Amino acid sequence: MLEEIRGIGPKTILSLNNLGIYTIDDLLNYFPYRYNVFLPTSLINASEKDNVLINGCVENPIKVFFIKRNLNKLSFKLNTGKELINVTIFNRAFIKPNLIVGKEISVYGKYNKKNNTFIANDIKLTPILKETIEPVYHLNSGLKKSNFVKIMNSALNQNFYVSNNIPEYLMNKYNFVDKVTAIKEIHNPINLKNIKDSKLMLIYEELFTFMLKMNYLKSCQKDVDNYYERNISKKDIDKFIKTLTFTLTKDQVNALEDIYNDFNNPKRMNRLILGDVGSGKTIVAFIALYMNYISGYQGVMMAPTEILAKQHYDNMINLFKDFNLKIELLTSSTLKKNRLDILKRLENHEIDVLIGTHSVLNEEVKFKRLGLVVTDEQHRFGVNQRNMLQKKGKLCDVLYLSATPIPRTMALTIFGDMDITEIKTKPSNRKPIKTMLYKNSEIKDVLFQMLEEIKQGHQVYVVAPLIEDENETGLETVNELKNKIDIAFNKKIPIDILHGKLKNKEKETIMNNFKENKTKILISTTVIEVGVDVKNATMMIIFNAERFGLSTLHQLRGRIGRNDLDSKCILISDLDAPRLKILEESNDGFYISEKDFELRGPGDLFGVKQSGDMEFKIANLKTDFKILKQCAIDSKEFLEKCNINEYPIQKNIIDSISFIN
Ligand code: ADP
Ligand code: MG
Repeated sequence: MLEEIRGIGPKTILSLNNLGIYTIDDLLNYFPYRYNVFLPTSLINASEKDNVLINGCVENPIKVFFIKRNLNKLSFKLNTGKELINVTIFNRAFIKPNLIVGKEISVYGKYNKKNNTFIANDIKLTPILKETIEPVYHLNSGLKKSNFVKIMNSALNQNFYVSNNIPEYLMNKYNFVDKVTAIKEIHNPINLKNIKDSKLMLIYEELFTFMLKMNYLKSCQKDVDNYYERNISKKDIDKFIKTLTFTLTKDQVNALEDIYNDFNNPKRMNRLILGDVGSGKTIVAFIALYMNYISGYQGVMMAPTEILAKQHYDNMINLFKDFNLKIELLTSSTLKKNRLDILKRLENHEIDVLIGTHSVLNEEVKFKRLGLVVTDEQHRFGVNQRNMLQKKGKLCDVLYLSATPIPRTMALTIFGDMDITEIKTKPSNRKPIKTMLYKNSEIKDVLFQMLEEIKQGHQVYVVAPLIEDENETGLETVNELKNKIDIAFNKKIPIDILHGKLKNKEKETIMNNFKENKTKILISTTVIEVGVDVKNATMMIIFNAERFGLSTLHQLRGRIGRNDLDSKCILISDLDAPRLKILEESNDGFYISEKDFELRGPGDLFGVKQSGDMEFKIANLKTDFKILKQCAIDSKEFLEKCNINEYPIQKNIIDSISFIN
């Protein structure tokens, strides 16, 4: 309970909640993403490229300029004892009262010799006299840095219990610093060496925990040899493929070949289809469900959201309208009466394919002859399949679809014995999405292009980072954008807003209206799923693009360019973010994720939070790949050699594996 921390108030608790921090454990495990190293320097030695720390006295009264909402500038002269320099800092108007003439302070930032100006990004009101390391956290919830640090220190001083998932013999083997020390050092570092040691322990712990779950699940599946007798005629498959309005790509055909072979092999199918957004994984899954149906079994397809489940359902019904399959949709908003009816018919094998969200995992959902489970946009990498499948009685064939671009070697380490099929070729009618960077000042041009697109009968997605700017971050919001665009177009163009806080019914209506081309512009946060498929949408505009990871941006733009029309993605950012250029240059999700990893590089002691599927707090799969491999070996050995009942912490981890986590 966060309330137990001394000096914490309800408002701070709310702010922490906004960061995803709900417990003391969450707080202690909220790691800095980098460190500032403050080392007092003299101006003569100051490099112009790097941030430097200069001490001096405030020479003259402070001037504050309010430039626009959320942007102010504070300027003064600093006397270093030898020189007088002009210091400027943005958005710190609030410290003006503290900067009285004569006060000794430290400024941290970049010095430009030629103009004798110093652009500070931090000012220390207590001067820093010796080398000091300061952790930097991602704080976006109206929480002041100083306040966060105070709370963190308070929690650290109260010596709350911290659990350690690494068994003692491994702690000894690697000579790791103990967990309590590691946590303290990471938040309150003394020197860089200590940070490194602590970080190593924490990364190992995180990856060990992850691999422990993965290996445990694998070990559960291994001893099952469940042969499903199948008789699938290729002729029947071809009959369906002929009805498609497009030709399957080479890789789609290969994937189907793999699946067909799996079906006809006594070994249980456990296959991952890995393919970039828009590569056409869905149709492969549908045909797999069809093969499963021909051989006399029921199938189920799970999607992460209602919108996606509904979309799959509509598509599948449409594609198979001339075939005999009984297909049903089950989500949490299915009416009770329908639900009961579906449950009954499932048990009697009157339904061949069930499509749905997590709802299909419910205990009441019972199949008569379940032969195949498909999981779309497999976010949790199957960590949680076990429970569900065991509840259903039999371990049937499983197919996962994932758009997470991870290198093959990495996939093999993580998935171990899972078979992987990659879909690399894109449908041939695709034109690359043209991606362009714009500044907010060029918004008129963007609006003009938007109008052109709409005049041609096409539709537009607009993405903003926030729903409402409660904390005055100055970021763009969906609500404000709607107003702005309405004003720009005199309310003549139908616009809708979509975000996570709407009710499911509302979301569905909004999505349907967009699909049916009734609304022309859909403004949303990123919660709107990557899998959504509206072919007529040809343009996407993403505001505050610098706030998103490259992979996220790539996944987002994958919603356009889904047919043979030209499509474009406009990234709006006022910051100079060279990494965004990568998106201008490439449309290849695998390449982009590689670059993304590279760029996060060694400058950051901790990589920026990884987007999407594998979210680790401190580990970075790319740079910590060696550790991951070691954890794969160690956790496997642990499971094989140790009696888990003697390890309550690790046993707990395994027991807690459940679908929704
Ligand atoms: P994803 O792999 O991201 O899940 P989808 O399966 O949603 O992609 O496919 C994107 C779109 O491409 C869909 O509208 C689908 O009908 C279409 N599509 C799939 N395969 C082909 C193909 N071989 N040729 C043309 N269009 C295709
Ligand atoms: Mg998809």
